[in-house]
Amino acid sequence: MIKAGVIGYPISQSKSPKIHGYWLNRYGIKGSYTAMAVPPDEFAHTIDKLAADGFTGFNVTIPHKQAIIPFCGVLTPNAQKIGAVNTVFIRNGILHGDNTDAFGFTQNLDEKQPNFDWTAGPAVVLGAGGAARAILYALEQSGVSQIYLANRTKAKAEELAAAFPKVRVVDWERRSDVLENINLLVNTTALGMVGQEPLTIDLAALPAAATVYDIVYSPLITPLLAQAKEKGCTVVTGIGMLLHQARPGFQGWFGTKNLPEVTAELEELLLKN
Ligand code: NAP
Repeated sequence: MIKAGVIGYPISQSKSPKIHGYWLNRYGIKGSYTAMAVPPDEFAHTIDKLAADGFTGFNVTIPHKQAIIPFCGVLTPNAQKIGAVNTVFIRNGILHGDNTDAFGFTQNLDEKQPNFDWTAGPAVVLGAGGAARAILYALEQSGVSQIYLANRTKAKAEELAAAFPKVRVVDWERRSDVLENINLLVNTTALGMVGQEPLTIDLAALPAAATVYDIVYSPLITPLLAQAKEKGCTVVTGIGMLLHQARPGFQGWFGTKNLPEVTAELEELLLKN
């Protein structure tokens, strides 16, 4: 029985067991994927135990995505640049830390919009939290030439701009003023999520040919996406990013020949609750 799982604190909100459970079943693999609530003071002990118990790896979620780094004997370039690990592979007792959020972000858009040209114009990114760092990396890797970044706390945007040369920081209050000639607008803030205020932005200057991508997936169509749809823009929801980021972990732990598939059935399963 091949064993993998996810560690976080709390963990009940994680959708990863549902995703990996679906794939284990779909591909007929004898394996398990367990959600583990691990408080920070039990973190080191748990990591040692997982390796000793024969786990082939695990996902890492809040609040451990940085704490895991010193435990990794190997860090992929993605994990190094993003500064966080969400997927760990245990090979010969050594932890290999990876970050698959950038992969998930890019794959989702490429799948939903196969003709999307990342290099066709600048991008605007709203938010400078943990997810934004992975997305800036994904945009740079995809050849986006210029990225405008706006965040409520400007210092956090400036910190990211120091790490990503294509980024130009814009005041949060001026987020509606940089939309002219934009190819892609991405919301990485928590605004628009269930229980949060909607994101307020004036899309008047945004070209109808632009794509608007909201990584918030609850609700699936956020107020921002509804506004963008009305303007005639192509919209991309956040659920696919969550699904695609899970694929490399599954393949590495359970040894499938190809990456597992993101199917409409899986997407529906996740959206049900
Ligand atoms: P985070 O590190 O806590 O960052 C939160 C971001 O939202 C910060 O930029 C913060 O600005 C901004 N924000 C929060 N409240 C705000 C407000 N009232 N006004 C303006 N800005 C506000 O969170 P994260 O991990 O980056 O996640 C952000 C969102 O993305 C969450 O909704 C999460 O569920 C979603 N997400 C989706 C995926 C996916 O796979 N689809 C993956 C990761 C995250 P300040 O810096 O000023 O606080």
